[in-house]
Amino acid sequence: MVKEDFKIPVHLSQLISSEQAYQYGIIPIEETEDIWTFKSYNTTNVLQQELQIVLGKTIILQSESEENIKQYLASNFRKREQTHSEAFHYSTDFLEKLLATAKHIGSSDIHFEVYEERCRVRLRLDGKLKEYFIIEQDQYPIIINKLKIRAGLDISEKRLPQDGRITIKTSADEFDIRVSSLPTLHGEKMVLRILSKDADHIQLSDLGFTDRELYTYKETIKKPNGIVLISGPTGSGKTTTLYATLKLLNDEKTNILTIEDPIEYTLEGINQVQLKESIGLDFSSTLRTFLRQDPDVIMVGEIRDAKTANMAIRAALTGHLVLSTIHTNSAWATISRLIDMDIPPFLIASTLNVSVAQRLVRKLCTHCKSEKPVVPSDFPEQFEIPKHLRTQFTAMGCNNCYHTGYMGRKAIYEIIPITKALITHIKNNEHNIDSYLKDQNIASLKTNAIELVKDGVTSVEEVYALLID
Ligand SMILES: [Zn+2]
Repeated sequence: MVKEDFKIPVHLSQLISSEQAYQYGIIPIEETEDIWTFKSYNTTNVLQQELQIVLGKTIILQSESEENIKQYLASNFRKREQTHSEAFHYSTDFLEKLLATAKHIGSSDIHFEVYEERCRVRLRLDGKLKEYFIIEQDQYPIIINKLKIRAGLDISEKRLPQDGRITIKTSADEFDIRVSSLPTLHGEKMVLRILSKDADHIQLSDLGFTDRELYTYKETIKKPNGIVLISGPTGSGKTTTLYATLKLLNDEKTNILTIEDPIEYTLEGINQVQLKESIGLDFSSTLRTFLRQDPDVIMVGEIRDAKTANMAIRAALTGHLVLSTIHTNSAWATISRLIDMDIPPFLIASTLNVSVAQRLVRKLCTHCKSEKPVVPSDFPEQFEIPKHLRTQFTAMGCNNCYHTGYMGRKAIYEIIPITKALITHIKNNEHNIDSYLKDQNIASLKTNAIELVKDGVTSVEEVYALLID
């Protein structure tokens, strides 16, 4: 039984923070140099091992009823709003080191994976995964549980996928991490997406547009209404282009609303909403609400269905500029996709300002790339190698590029402004506009890819998929 006036001696109560006391449901009752003893209603090995890592001591857990623990907590620890970030200040923490490493080398995602024989951590760098750490089998569940706790996930739920978020705050940096768990054959796989906190460093002119493309694109976003659609596969940099565009449009006179999944950057002066389909905050319904919020510019993370496409068109017709992305392979395929969604061609023609397609290509490391004469067998069989292409560069690998042969990425674009001539093509349901693009002198993704190979910026291997028709 618990005494009502139970007070923990000060030296014991200072062993842990009040956040930790509430987070783990633990009460310190005894301390020796190496062993700390706690009372808890959760006395599992997992919690014990986790506390050993977090506190750096041998931990003994004694069972106590939940009711009593709650009473102890209430009378001894001041409850504060829990911040996930504080849990990361332990300098010996493997996770902290890992996150710092990932952020330092510019990795976008961290994968924790468990197989029958081994567990590993892979980092995505410039779009490609690379193995960085092997974790002992018995350490894996401990690390996963720590991650789940930090991200506010239920550690007892191991059979269903979960999503959470961690905010990291250090003296030098502040950023968010989106955490996703997936039950796999041998345990839970966790993927951490590192989300940049601010978009200060993003500039349209730095992304990869040619001068001409940048001019064309800027003309289409100057219009007060209409739709700007950016297409490309996952990881092709669409969101970065959208944020750079929003940054340009962001001023005191303009009301900008966004609905995103996830919010990857925060932009001051812009009203950003996180998509949450479980409570009905989906793209199309939020877009409908936005229209009552007196917007000038609306950014919709993605047009996934006809409902969202129709809402975007409605917004454009009522005098708003709508920016969005769509999952297609080319600027022209975007228009076909909208037609497939039963959007009448005349409406597409009257609302779409521009259709943009983009890809990200890795740039060869300038310290180790190696030049050689063009090797026809490196190109797709049916691809006609342009005559002006005489040499090509290949990836080698050195200490500067973590032995990948590449360093950094650059976007390539295909920008089709929707003109009167094109509207005729759309209305006639003509699906091949190669000659139109040639007449208008619009560079395709393929043309731009070959230019980068010619300039030694990237390798043939890196753009191979774009050279196949
Ligand atoms: Zn290198």
